[in-house]
Amino acid sequence: MIYEQLGVRPVINASATLTKLGGSRMPEPVVEAMRQASTSFIDLFEFQELAGKRIAEMTGNEAAFICSGAAAGITLTVATCIAGNEPDDRFVFPQLEGIERNEVLCRPDQPSPYRYAANITGAKIVEVGGDLDEFIGGITSRTACILWFAGRLSDSSPPLADVIREAKKLRVPVIVDAAAQIPPMSSLSYYTRELGADVAIFSGGKGLRGPQTTGLILGRRDIILGCSVHGAPNQALGRPMKVAKEDIAGILTALEWSMSQDEPALLQRYEDVVKYWLDGVRDIPGVTGERGFPSEAGQPHPRAILNLGPEAALDRNQLVERLWNRNPRIAVSEDEKIAVALNPQTIEPGEEKVVLAAIREEFGMSS
Ligand SMILES: *Cc1c(COP(=O)(O)O)cnc(C)c1O
Repeated sequence: MIYEQLGVRPVINASATLTKLGGSRMPEPVVEAMRQASTSFIDLFEFQELAGKRIAEMTGNEAAFICSGAAAGITLTVATCIAGNEPDDRFVFPQLEGIERNEVLCRPDQPSPYRYAANITGAKIVEVGGDLDEFIGGITSRTACILWFAGRLSDSSPPLADVIREAKKLRVPVIVDAAAQIPPMSSLSYYTRELGADVAIFSGGKGLRGPQTTGLILGRRDIILGCSVHGAPNQALGRPMKVAKEDIAGILTALEWSMSQDEPALLQRYEDVVKYWLDGVRDIPGVTGERGFPSEAGQPHPRAILNLGPEAALDRNQLVERLWNRNPRIAVSEDEKIAVALNPQTIEPGEEKVVLAAIREEFGMSS
């Protein structure tokens, strides 16, 4: 095992589908599909197009493009909204000379670091806050699109459905970053089909459990066409964000695999794991557990929030650090000022026990 050979310590991930921890784990059929795909040459344009068609059908969307991650999906989609979807539209980057529509409208109450993925096209981020009228009033002839961050970041924003309705009247596309909005799987059609967003973007290597270097851009056919025009293997803005044949095989298979799972059973397992953790910390002095719902990304499943009071033997930072320094390492999230959060989404059956035993040990409790 390469990790052992190099001395890379394994991590039990009770934090989230974080790229810095490896994102997620691919089920065996996904790995096998990637292995098979690696054994022969193909026409990559053809494979992209046919896989995109299949994914559009499976998710109930007009069209789909496989990109190298949700961040790349933002870049390619914004590039299309700025430049267009013709082959000649590739060469406007990065100067954007003579292009009036080079602004991306964002909300100040959605301060996502992934705005940078839009910025790198050369686009200017314009922040407009306030209620629906004020926000829509911020649209000008320079507005290329609205970039909306789904999940808890938009909790204090006007309803997305209203934003979409009003933006449509002004023919301004609404791009929804829904990278971490799986589960539920219904998100794959919710933003585009039900709410009418022009495009919704998902990570392939989070809830979908595909390759970490994949993402899905779903929605309007003309925008998806633009993503392929600006995307690899064309010599274009997206060439450094290439997707390999193995990635395409992997995300397609991961989507099939994820769709075949029993989602209510999965969510019930998350519920059971959280209950196990909360029950297991009840007798630790100074520690108060509570069920936190929804997840930090707004997904419909709980996390175990452990509040560490003044009587607790360890404060928040000490606990996080001690768990991280164990072997295997254990990753948990910081939550608010004095709490850690334990997330069941990245836990395989059995690992919840390792996490609880480690926490109890760090607090000097018997297991
Ligand atoms: C994870 C995430 C991204 C980036 O996704 P990648 O697939 O890793 O590129 C973008 N936006 C949000 C909200 C995310 O959670």
